[in-house]
Amino acid sequence: MQAEIRAENKKPEIKKKFDVIIIGAGPAGYTAAIYTSRAKRETLIISGILPGGQLMLTTEVENYPGFSEGIMGPELMTTMRKQTERMGTTIIDDEVVNVDFRRKPFKILTYSEEYEADAVIIATGATPRKLGVKGEQEFSAKGVSYCATCDGPFFRNQEIVVAGGGDSAMEEAMFLTKFAKNVHVVHRKDRLRASKIMQDRAFENNKIKFHWNSVIEEIKGNEKVNQIMIRNVSTNQQETMSIGGLFVAIGHEPNTKLFKGQIELDDQGYIALKNHTHTNIDGVFAAGDVHDHRYRQAITAAGFGCMAAIDVDRYLSENSKK
Ligand code: NDP
Repeated sequence: MQAEIRAENKKPEIKKKFDVIIIGAGPAGYTAAIYTSRAKRETLIISGILPGGQLMLTTEVENYPGFSEGIMGPELMTTMRKQTERMGTTIIDDEVVNVDFRRKPFKILTYSEEYEADAVIIATGATPRKLGVKGEQEFSAKGVSYCATCDGPFFRNQEIVVAGGGDSAMEEAMFLTKFAKNVHVVHRKDRLRASKIMQDRAFENNKIKFHWNSVIEEIKGNEKVNQIMIRNVSTNQQETMSIGGLFVAIGHEPNTKLFKGQIELDDQGYIALKNHTHTNIDGVFAAGDVHDHRYRQAITAAGFGCMAAIDVDRYLSENSKK
């Protein structure tokens, strides 16, 4: 009797060996899983600590095709997850703590389990660098944004601030002049890091004003951001600026720490692809912002996810013949 009760209460065992394991559950990871599962490859997604990725932190997404009225970022990601599950993917909301790509099958260790796979897709994305000042987290997606292409059109006719002095900051500032009344670039130094061509274009644009040697010390607002406190680091003078929005463009950190020493990275720490979506290790692929620091869009990440899945399917077919 006791044994019967124990057997009835026993949770179904989650399989430990898969054809494909996808690390990361943003647009790249979900799209890759939709394709591999649909191709009848047993697929596991290990979603990490923020399933859904960067879009979980945004509000409305207007530029993802298929949603004529736009869609909220978290809703888009929940819908992608449901579609992925409907295709038969197993999804585990756990974090990968170690990987062993030195021999096959590949081993992936999470906080609670060890899994094995014949192929792996790394889709861990990148994280925008934060200023780390008071109010930044509170007003994130409430006037503080990390992507001008995504959110710029919501700030028509407003005074907008861009923090940073690199190519991204110049590109974002120029893009934002299409919507903003004025764009204020707040940069901590007296010269830009951006390439000469980007600097020239930004200097020529009379909607862009530069605030040199200046750091943002605090972000304030009510429902939405409406003020920043900036300090000039050479004069120590403080200033309050009334603004409609703040775009932080101080670089991204690719989420590749786990793979250092096994997967080849470029000089900025992004995964260096070899041949389409293949990494330096045969059977390990990468998709999305973890290798792409040029486009960084949900739709491009999804596109890369599809490409990696097709490459995985071909790789598994070729290897099963050997
Ligand atoms: P970068 O690392 O090149 O620039 C980051 C900028 O942010 C720097 O000006 C840096 O200041 C500033 N910054 C960093 N941390 C802080 C902080 N805590 N507070 C305030 N300011 C800070 O990053 P990007 O994203 O601009 O560019 C990444 C790469 O992508 C580059 O190689 C770039 O050339 C490339 N890229 C190319 C584009 C193009 O060609 N169209 C467009 C976008 C990116 P400081 O200067 O003082 O270090």
